[in-house]
Amino acid sequence: MTGDASTLRERICTLGKSLFDRRFVVGGAGNISVRLDDGRILVTPTGSNFGRLQPDEISEIDADGNLLAGKKPSKELTFHRALFRARSEAGAVVHLHSTYLTALSCRRDLDHENALRPFTPYYVMRVGSLPVSPYRRPGDPRIADDLEALARHSDARAFLLASHGPVVLGKTLEEAVDNMEELEETAKLFFLLRGEEIRWLTDDQISELRR
Ligand SMILES: [Zn+2]
Repeated sequence: MTGDASTLRERICTLGKSLFDRRFVVGGAGNISVRLDDGRILVTPTGSNFGRLQPDEISEIDADGNLLAGKKPSKELTFHRALFRARSEAGAVVHLHSTYLTALSCRRDLDHENALRPFTPYYVMRVGSLPVSPYRRPGDPRIADDLEALARHSDARAFLLASHGPVVLGKTLEEAVDNMEELEETAKLFFLLRGEEIRWLTDDQISELRR
């Protein structure tokens, strides 16, 4: 992603605070990363609260995973790096434990190819589909392998970690955050519509949107 590292550090803090203020994230959960043009990665530090991020504390990692500056990175950095490896176009990754998507991730009957069947056009246009990666304990290195395989074998821009939460990609940081918000709102609508007769988009309507 273009932009100098210090500006990007500030944008991570500003957008993190915005997500925190609107309760897309609470406590010390979630992480945001940005890949720079030279392969360096900026990522939120381990256990950091999005309401109190400081630009000089954002972890800066080289392409081999060594810490160059800032605090110790989130342990979930391994799966951010796996997604950057799998997707050359990705410039940013956002992972949250947002309420409605995490609730969705706990359902037993999830379709692992796509956890959220389309019923609004914006979900199709911004996110596409939502493949599920199997349950692993937090920090399990296999989460990175699972996500890398899913990212290589689909064109999805978002993934759902079973019983954990969403991971969303974007070409830019802003796009990743916007897509995360769209996805969380879609999951909220899905739960609001429980018990209602949903008019699901048809295959033709979905292909028209994808074109
Ligand atoms: Zn997590």
